Amino acid sequence: MNPMTQTMKFQPVLDEIAATLRPQLGQGGTVASYIPALARVDARQFGIALRTCEGEEAGAGDFETPFSIQSVSKLFTLTLAMQRMGDTLWERIGREPSGNPFNSLVQLENEQGKPRNPFINAGAIAVADRLVSQALANGDNGSNGNSAKADILALMTSLCGEPIGFDDEVAQSEADTGFRNIALANFMKSFGKIDNDVAAVLDTYFHQCALRMSCRQLARAAAFLCRDGAHPLDGEPGITGERQTRRINALMLTCGTYDAAGDVAFSIGLPCKSGVGGGIVAVVPDKLTLCVWSPALDATGNSLLGMKALEMFVARTGLSVF
Ligand code: GLN
Repeated sequence: MNPMTQTMKFQPVLDEIAATLRPQLGQGGTVASYIPALARVDARQFGIALRTCEGEEAGAGDFETPFSIQSVSKLFTLTLAMQRMGDTLWERIGREPSGNPFNSLVQLENEQGKPRNPFINAGAIAVADRLVSQALANGDNGSNGNSAKADILALMTSLCGEPIGFDDEVAQSEADTGFRNIALANFMKSFGKIDNDVAAVLDTYFHQCALRMSCRQLARAAAFLCRDGAHPLDGEPGITGERQTRRINALMLTCGTYDAAGDVAFSIGLPCKSGVGGGIVAVVPDKLTLCVWSPALDATGNSLLGMKALEMFVARTGLSVF
């Protein structure tokens, strides 16, 4: 199909979803308040954007407004770690849904400090540890913090084709109040599952969560996931291999929305990764990537209107992996 026709097909769908949800803004859910810098965000915002495999982009609502991507970043740090370590990554991190909240400590004790999957906080902290090790092996002497953060920025900037940065205020706010994450990292360290200095690992983790991006940028950055790992912009293969790409999508479907993953597979049927900033990235393999954003969250820490928007998108387009 002509790429232009595809955009014209999707733009009215996105416009309709944004118009339908706009009256519901501010009417349910709550913004994440345990990170003070996020508690100040206006809940009455909603954006939706997509990018097709052919490179056409469409968006509606506040799709150009940058927000804190939070746990959506776990998708991209996992990508970096898979690029660099291949299958050895799975010696440290599992691939099972947790069935627990994203910041839970309980499973870690029973499982000797090996996180259930890379998308809960413990798993992402373990991935950050791997990235710090890789940066050190590549000649980073650690004197300037660590360059794992630079590696993350370089990946995001390359995928988007435009500069992406950290929101330092959010990163600092997380560092000041991230007592659970500090506990998780130290707990894993006590089991010998974190190799590096806990402070350097958490500095990487807090900064990845504080990446500031818009729906348009996130739909674009994730687009390698709907085209077998090819770069979203130039189509060069190899951001991830074909098999790795399938695996990332499988993990998103089973683990990307924490203890809501079963419900999300049931009602939406797309691989998704959410964050407490209110963003959700969803993949329709071989077709398109979507990003929705609205800061008010439901009880599982997923965007309330973001999930509604994905349900509406799937209902109107019939696009689902099932
Ligand atoms: N930065 C957040 C935290 O560590 C990320 C959690 C999330 O988005 N689910 O608690």
